[in-house]
Amino acid sequence: MFKNIVVILIDSLRADGTNYSRDLIYGKGNHDLIKTPNLDNFSKKGTIFTNAYSTNTYTTSAHASFFTGKYPPVHGIRSFFDFEQQLSSKVKTLSENLNSLNYQTFFYSDIPELFSVMDIWRGFKIKTHSKMNWLWNSVEDLKAECNFIFIHTFDVHEPYLLIEDKSENKKINEDYYDTIREIRKKIHLKSKINQKEKPHNAWSEIRNFIEINKIDQEGTLMQYYSKGIEKFDRLRLTKIYQRLNSMGFNDNNTFFVFLSDHGEGKTEFVNNTNFAHSGELTEETTKIFLSTSKLGTPLNENLFSISFLKNLIINNAVNNRSRIDYDYFKFKKLFKEEKYIYAETFIYYLGKNNPHMTDNTTRLVNLNRKFINTESIVYNRGLIGEKSKIIIKNQPEKVDSLYKEKKIAGLIKKSYHFLFGRSPEKNAYNLFLRKLKKNEITKKAFIEILINSKEKKLKPFFSFFQKKYFDENKINTNLMKLRLEIDKILRVSTENKVSFEKIKEYVEF
Ligand SMILES: [Zn+2]
Repeated sequence: MFKNIVVILIDSLRADGTNYSRDLIYGKGNHDLIKTPNLDNFSKKGTIFTNAYSTNTYTTSAHASFFTGKYPPVHGIRSFFDFEQQLSSKVKTLSENLNSLNYQTFFYSDIPELFSVMDIWRGFKIKTHSKMNWLWNSVEDLKAECNFIFIHTFDVHEPYLLIEDKSENKKINEDYYDTIREIRKKIHLKSKINQKEKPHNAWSEIRNFIEINKIDQEGTLMQYYSKGIEKFDRLRLTKIYQRLNSMGFNDNNTFFVFLSDHGEGKTEFVNNTNFAHSGELTEETTKIFLSTSKLGTPLNENLFSISFLKNLIINNAVNNRSRIDYDYFKFKKLFKEEKYIYAETFIYYLGKNNPHMTDNTTRLVNLNRKFINTESIVYNRGLIGEKSKIIIKNQPEKVDSLYKEKKIAGLIKKSYHFLFGRSPEKNAYNLFLRKLKKNEITKKAFIEILINSKEKKLKPFFSFFQKKYFDENKINTNLMKLRLEIDKILRVSTENKVSFEKIKEYVEF
């Protein structure tokens, strides 16, 4: 019997990201070789799913579906990163269920902030932070008779070819800046690389340059994405697997799951060259890699949602040892004739004349002009069936209630504390907050003050919060402001429930 459950979630690994999964999807010899011997070996002796989809193209929402077994409208995590959004208290997480079965539960992520802010990691007894050695030490000290270990790795995600584990020797990433130089040369980006620059910043410069200059993203980035997968398989994954084995987690006593949260690739139906994972619900971004220890029932070609995994893990690994919440797929009964699964993502609404974004540059320009008047955010909703895929576009969410000053002040306060940590400029912050409340400064001016403050250096986060982009590039400045706006706008999603009857009226094939 499997006493242990180990889940290794490889962020952004697309369904055809390994050689063996490509063999199954395209046929042997019908695809480019990608060297992933370790993932291939595991998949061959286990069960691989070739028709599995995520519930969202954004990391946080997809993970919430994995942990709760619910779709985003039910678990409540629908935006990428929202300081006020929390995992619904009405749902139970996999680790909460396993705790009640006397499992010890361990959480590790390369970017734990993605899970902590919205409480997506709820239920884990032991949460370790961004150094794998902390996880291994915790497991050695605290492992019980039954254990659940969740590991979220960011290596396959942008920026490609970077091994994220902070416990690792830096030598492992010596090729990273060579790659950056190579891509810069290829796209004729002239600015000089700064060796001290943070990898994600160096990457963001490339990414923005590609978008603004309308360079074929797939043609430029696909090969580096693939190389990054190979590097992960060869180095870090091997090490993780060996370490787990040395601590007694092996094929006889452990149910292993390797999966991704979303794919990577074409992000818009109209524009074929975009290569990322936020955007519309395309096959490349929505379909995921999924391989588990061998299952009794062959499920590999069946349509499968990441939100089914919770139940699958409990059924197969725990063997019905106790009462478990099985009421997770309440939408299923709506679709009696054909089995559908649900996915969603969001885009920005640009007004009546231009609801579809066909081009990234147009998108940025339009947003610069219009985002102040933007009243809606558009959710793409997808129903994916055995034979058909239905994507529902452009159903805007209303945002009337979001611009109330009280809520905005609360959001800013939370984001401030999160981004900047302890605050030597606390008095200045409070002064500006008072001014904001009295309408002496605008919300936007206030956000700018926060982002330009010295304290951001204490806890730098994603590139769009970095001062560099705020100062040097007008489009990025606006993009960053926009993202802050979007964080606010997205809060509507917790208030408006999705109506599936309504969705059916808007179907597009
Ligand atoms: Zn992700």
